[in-house]
Amino acid sequence: MNHASRDDVLAWDRTHVWRPYTPIDRHEQGPPPPVIRRAEHVWLHTDDGRTLIDGVGSWWVSNLGHGHPRVRAAVHEQLDRMAHVAMAGLAHEEGARLAKRLADITPDGLTRAFYSDNGSTAVEVAVRAAFQFWRQNGAPERRLFLSFDGAYHGDTIGTVSVGGIPTFHDTFGPLLFETVRAPAPPEQPDFEDAAFAALEQALEPRASEVAAVVVEPLVQGAAGMRMHSPAWLRRVRALCDAHGVLLIADEVFVGFGRTGTLFACEQAGITPDFLCLSKGLTAGFMPFAATMTTERIYDGFRGGPERTFFYGHSYCGNPLGCAAAHAVLDAFEQDDVLGNVAARGAQLDAWLARVATRDHVAHVRRTGLVAAVQFAEGDRSNYLARTGWNVYEEALRRGAYLRPLGNVTYFVPALTIRETELAGLLEIADASIEAALSPPR
Ligand SMILES: *Cc1c(COP(=O)(O)O)cnc(C)c1O
Repeated sequence: MNHASRDDVLAWDRTHVWRPYTPIDRHEQGPPPPVIRRAEHVWLHTDDGRTLIDGVGSWWVSNLGHGHPRVRAAVHEQLDRMAHVAMAGLAHEEGARLAKRLADITPDGLTRAFYSDNGSTAVEVAVRAAFQFWRQNGAPERRLFLSFDGAYHGDTIGTVSVGGIPTFHDTFGPLLFETVRAPAPPEQPDFEDAAFAALEQALEPRASEVAAVVVEPLVQGAAGMRMHSPAWLRRVRALCDAHGVLLIADEVFVGFGRTGTLFACEQAGITPDFLCLSKGLTAGFMPFAATMTTERIYDGFRGGPERTFFYGHSYCGNPLGCAAAHAVLDAFEQDDVLGNVAARGAQLDAWLARVATRDHVAHVRRTGLVAAVQFAEGDRSNYLARTGWNVYEEALRRGAYLRPLGNVTYFVPALTIRETELAGLLEIADASIEAALSPPR
């Protein structure tokens, strides 16, 4: 391909691209974005010869770094043989083998994979299947979903209905279905009993009408990397069981090693009724998703054509996505990715402990390779709060991509990031926080 000039790219971008989650005046009048020509491991190479370290895994997907040789080779090989065929009435080895592999490695009892293309659809599938399951299995009154304040499950209307971030979700209120809402999962073990009592209080009056509880296990990502304990997750599972309610675990963000175990649910020793997987499944190589469920749910769709799950996207089971996922799983089996998560986590802890002593830093936290620094200014729930964005701009100048969530600067690097690379990223973060917090001259 002949490369266009940087000026042309930026002019087309400004005139014709509608950027996600970006205020239009920032898009039109803010500093021009870096133009990335090439991405390799944790490095983003710009067209003007700069190199940025990717501190957020390109929106939480790049778990093995960019251009991982194993995944690249697998997708190339697949592309040469078969890019796509429909999954309706046709089978292929890539999809069949991946379903078996996922059944083998996900928590016990999850035996069926329903494929789609992104995180939102992975959750949408679970919500729709849970609803239909009850409708045709003797409990049609179970039509409500319980979700948590701060929840983010995607951007379709169904997943926004179970979302709990006012800045993102309030506009669409009139379009959303009714949910039961519980306070956000407790960030401190001291609050667990109170938070659990509040959850019980939300659920119990309507428990017989609730189809499923939807939860982000261990980390509520978009809420600002809010973290809770495996013990709390275990209590949520037990509460669902006590009331015959299904549990949907949205591991779109935390699945595939992000929290230090292959799946976050493992740390609680639970099996959800649905496990939603996407980002880490293909680690930034292909848009792809799988919703895992149990034989009990699958059996609930037997018994005649009118009981079919009438749901499916064009690219369901896309072989390129399957090929990428196989290569990602190979990497986990062969490269000790989780060992690196543990080592880099310890490295992050030492840095976080220092940052925590700074003025204007309200809280620091970490689970696996998710770390967050929360600033004291304003309200964390405000995605548009400034401090994180000031750190972001300072970091871009210094060579790091650290897109924030409001007042939270967070780190979601590739799980394969090396010690020296993480040290470099944290050095840039240090200087950027210092610059962002010092009074304007
Ligand atoms: C990113 C995310 C989604 C949505 O995934 P998309 O691929 O952006 O649609 C859903 N749930 C969680 C927890 C996520 O982090």
